[in-house]
Amino acid sequence: MNANLTADRPTFVTHLECSLTGERYAADQLHGLSRAGRPLLVRYDLDAVAATVSRDALAARETDLWRWRELLPVRRTENIVSLGEVETPLVPIARSGGPGVLVKDEGRLPTGSFKARGLVMAVAMARELGVTRIAMPTNGNAGAALAAYATRCGIETIVLCPEDTPEVNVREIALQGARVWRVNGLIDDCGAIVGKGAADGRWFDFSTLKEPYRIEGKKTMGLELAAQFGWELPDAIFYPTGGGTGLIGMWKAFDELERLGWIGSKRPRMYAVQAAGCAPIVKAFEDGVEHAERWEDASTVAAGIRVPRAVGDFLILRAVRESGGRALAVDDGEILRAVDDAARQDGLLLCPEGGATLAAYRQAKADGLVGADERVVLFNCATGLKYPMPPADNWLDRHGTIDFDAL
Ligand SMILES: *Cc1c(COP(=O)(O)O)cnc(C)c1O
Repeated sequence: MNANLTADRPTFVTHLECSLTGERYAADQLHGLSRAGRPLLVRYDLDAVAATVSRDALAARETDLWRWRELLPVRRTENIVSLGEVETPLVPIARSGGPGVLVKDEGRLPTGSFKARGLVMAVAMARELGVTRIAMPTNGNAGAALAAYATRCGIETIVLCPEDTPEVNVREIALQGARVWRVNGLIDDCGAIVGKGAADGRWFDFSTLKEPYRIEGKKTMGLELAAQFGWELPDAIFYPTGGGTGLIGMWKAFDELERLGWIGSKRPRMYAVQAAGCAPIVKAFEDGVEHAERWEDASTVAAGIRVPRAVGDFLILRAVRESGGRALAVDDGEILRAVDDAARQDGLLLCPEGGATLAAYRQAKADGLVGADERVVLFNCATGLKYPMPPADNWLDRHGTIDFDAL
């Protein structure tokens, strides 16, 4: 077994903190949102971390998510339910992207998406804190990751999806042991039902950012990037933004790494990418405001970023602005063209949300926001295999005359 999961390692969580007001909350207790209705952030004794483990010692460990154990919240190793959370590769896409463009391919993770990073952490913490039943609204991938990890450790799950969630996601969730329901509404409508049941004490609410630990799992994307880039971050990151957990998590990771003295003050410009049919963060960015309004009639092929309202909107906007980045919208035609180009030209099958980051990068390069020589990371957050693909229906009759020139 992986040494990262067998070694006895100290943990360093000191407390939790409201992301809006800074109010402190005790660690090692079950929390949802803060009293102000905002996400809670986990805080660590980083001086003690720095005194305990060096950057080089950490870099020498096996390269999975658990190598970052001292910067993660789980106290007791036996609460970790692992399905093999590998470090994901940076794949160049020189033809469809350009010379300096790397795709962080999160489709290699368990359940085929980066939701595994957040959920492996949140489920471990739920187990640690005695939760036995969890409910979640999802556009598909988060529900699948929750079902897999929770089932594995005997936690009951109820998952609500918008009715047009891709069939493969709904079936995957069901097969992995959750009770899954389609709902005639969008993800925030599903979230309202989950919230009601939680208020009645029926279950614990696992909506994006409504429990504190998914951010900590997603934070590992930022930690990995730092290590993969030799402790010097790339120039720009394009992130497909729904609830924004990953973008917020990476920004937090960079801050913690700098406080540890493991990286300098240089930050990537963070580009929050949304679909033109559901772009509340882009609108708020352009309007210069701190909170986003609900996006009505949200619609896009990129289901994972079809999130009309994000409870962490101000955290996304703050990170994007502080980094000198932007929020960018791309339409479905550009998204599908980008997916097609990466597959046909570079042999890399992106999910539509990943296609959105390539489309946004191309647009940003054309607009002069990024230079052709800059080091750029695009996030592909799920395997393209989970999504519909264009038909391919050539057919050969082996008994007839075969026209070899036409093959
Ligand atoms: C959930 C999801 C996203 C959005 O991630 P957030 O961190 O919640 O913004 C993007 N792409 C895919 C494939 C997803 O499943």
